[in-house]
Amino acid sequence: MKNLKIAIQKSGRLNEKSVQLLKNCGLNFENYKSSLITTVSNFPLEILFLRDDDIPEYVQDGIADLGIVGENVIVETEANVRYLQRLGFGKCSLKIAVPSHSDAKEPADLNGKAIATSYPTILKKFLDEQSITADIRIISGSVEISPALELSDAIFDIVSTGGTLRSNGLVPFADVMTSEAILIGKNGIENNPVVCELIQRIQSVLRAAE
Ligand code: ATP
Ligand code: ZN
Repeated sequence: MKNLKIAIQKSGRLNEKSVQLLKNCGLNFENYKSSLITTVSNFPLEILFLRDDDIPEYVQDGIADLGIVGENVIVETEANVRYLQRLGFGKCSLKIAVPSHSDAKEPADLNGKAIATSYPTILKKFLDEQSITADIRIISGSVEISPALELSDAIFDIVSTGGTLRSNGLVPFADVMTSEAILIGKNGIENNPVVCELIQRIQSVLRAAE
């Protein structure tokens, strides 16, 4: 039988904890250096190291059977995947923030404003639910700088401590979603015995850490 494949982030905020979780499950493997794929020596699994943005679609399309990725990325990509296990790390919130001098007081005040974000799908859904019509400006990085450059009136981005907001003269305005790392799988994979074994090991690692 062919080994299953799990996709994890190659480098970035989720990489280290994803690797640690799999190691704590007793899996033996060489960590990512330059090869995109590594084989676990004592479990029928291969590990793919990818950019996090690609993980939900790779799992949806069956290129990987499993993946570890932030819920924000799953929701943004609208990938059709199964949530197998919440993992308790990579916690963050996605918020709308405005300049501290802004006259916007409530969500309806965003009508007609320009909001910069790398998460247009999540933002659009929130605005639609609130019946707000705003101009969504898609920016791939450094979203926080855009109000100061007069490219937008507000931003929608990941916030963890709020330090980046503060240093750019921004204040939180509306909480849109919270996120954490999730183990996802392609549809149907949850019945695979190897997957069940892996989920059980993950659950006991999470329980032991409580
Ligand atoms: P990649 O190079 O893989 O595309 P990235 O730069 O898009 O990486 P990271 O900044 O490494 O992504 O963040 C990965 C995930 O970590 C986020 O999608 C989110 O789920 C989670 N996360 C937790 N806290 C934060 C935070 N303070 N800022 C950004 N992401 C965070
Ligand atoms: Zn990314």
